[in-house]
Amino acid sequence: MPLPEQLANQVRDIVGRERYLDSPTDTASYGYNSFPLHTEPAAVVLFEDRAQIERVVPILYAANVPMVIRGSGTNLAGNALAPTGGVVLSLERMKKVLEIDPVSLFARVEAGANVKAIQELAASHGLLFPPNPGNVDAVTVGGIIGCNSSGDLALGYGGTRDFVLGMEVVTGEGQVLKLGSRVRKDVTGYDLVRLFCGCEGTLGVVVEATVRFINKPEGEASVLAAFPEQQQGAEAALALLGAKLAPVALEYMDAPTTQAVEAAFKLGFPTGTGSSVLVKFHGSAEGVDSSAKRCAAVFERAGASWTRLALDGEPAEHVWRARHLAYPALARNCPTLYGEDIVVPIRHFPATVARFHELAIECGVPIALFAHAGDGHLHPCLLTNDADPAQRERSDRFIDAAVRHALALGGAITGEHGLGVHKTPYAHLQLGDHERAAMKRIKLAFDPKGLFNPMIFPVTGHPPNNPRRKGIEIV
Ligand SMILES: Cc1cc2nc3c(=O)[nH]c(=O)nc-3n(C[C@H](O)[C@H](O)[C@H](O)COP(=O)(O)OP(=O)(O)OC[C@H]3O[C@@H](n4cnc5c(N)ncnc54)[C@H](O)[C@@H]3O)c2cc1C
Repeated sequence: MPLPEQLANQVRDIVGRERYLDSPTDTASYGYNSFPLHTEPAAVVLFEDRAQIERVVPILYAANVPMVIRGSGTNLAGNALAPTGGVVLSLERMKKVLEIDPVSLFARVEAGANVKAIQELAASHGLLFPPNPGNVDAVTVGGIIGCNSSGDLALGYGGTRDFVLGMEVVTGEGQVLKLGSRVRKDVTGYDLVRLFCGCEGTLGVVVEATVRFINKPEGEASVLAAFPEQQQGAEAALALLGAKLAPVALEYMDAPTTQAVEAAFKLGFPTGTGSSVLVKFHGSAEGVDSSAKRCAAVFERAGASWTRLALDGEPAEHVWRARHLAYPALARNCPTLYGEDIVVPIRHFPATVARFHELAIECGVPIALFAHAGDGHLHPCLLTNDADPAQRERSDRFIDAAVRHALALGGAITGEHGLGVHKTPYAHLQLGDHERAAMKRIKLAFDPKGLFNPMIFPVTGHPPNNPRRKGIEIV
């Protein structure tokens, strides 16, 4: 449903005609994320600066128009889709660095700033910005705040919320909230900065953020290991944590993932590898060298058939880029890929790897599994075809059982992708009535009409359903 012409003209007057898109050809790509569902927004607004946001959002809010806030749209759980139509608020053009203070270790940036560019900015001052999702080249600061994204370095440093000191937010009613500060230690009132990290665009528009840097460690070393059996890599990851060598990244790949990554990136894994593990250490130059050698010894004792050390620099970058691009490497092999996102307490990691492979056979859906093993965080990827209802039903069975498996162990149904339209129907399995009601009150305190990302948890006024199917019907 297009916006009434008078309302559309009000928006055009503020942003310019060319930045208000409403023809289906122009809006089509904004109906997609990296999650396999197509939706159809009524319009897209391409903002150039925060002043435009401060003027446009209250007008749409007053007119009861649903709004979807979007960075690059690369999320994996359908966190920035428009299953109810409405307007996509795109911040992809707001990329400016507003201020950098390398002594106080922060930068203030517009929400559409690219995360890789922020990492490079930090590196140019000898600093590190650790949030590092696999698709870091594509994602925005607003997007990683929205999902509280993390990635491989979360083991050593934590997720996005550990690196955001403050932000400015535009609410639906047009207020500008200045949250947090420029300092790391700040306990003034409720921690609304952390609340916004992971709220998936359901509370308001983050227009700028103050992100925290840390000093770049002197040395970095990586270790790769291949194991003949699927379970050996998972057990070896646990053994490495037990060896107290404190890696900052510890990643597991099963055989199908290793093969797909090897085919695309030629890392040298032997043929017939049943599983592989990638590890990174940060510290002093001598310290990381010693840790890497001791790590390789732990893996050899755990049955590794092949190990390789990669020090800081080009070869190590190639290794981590290959791991980062596991999703696209796998996506080449199937029409639909679900990158699942499930966390268990670490001791249960190896058994969960085994259980998910069994479950795949029981449900009749092929999977490839990789994991941020050090966090007990698994990404079983379902290699399927959603055009076939029977395959969709098998995927749903797998996801339902995997979610229940994690919850029975005290885990979580999402570790970094967020609920999105995909996991919202499962939220009640982890969150009880009181918890959901408390979250809904928070939602309504910021967004009383429930217009921001209306199909994402905590939904207000929408019955629980399966938005994936509903979305497909909408198409
Ligand atoms: C190949 C691949 C690898 C990936 N690897 C990882 C990984 O290792 N770790 C990980 O954590 N994730 C990973 N992801 C998912 C990643 O988290 C998301 O891609 C990223 O957070 C989305 O950033 P984006 O700019 O595309 O945001 P979008 O997808 O546009 O939005 C993400 C969410 O943030 C909200 N949002 C965006 N901007 C704002 C704003 N300014 N104000 C308020 N809300 C906003 C949106 O409404 C939405 O809910 C991967 C994705 C891909 C495709």
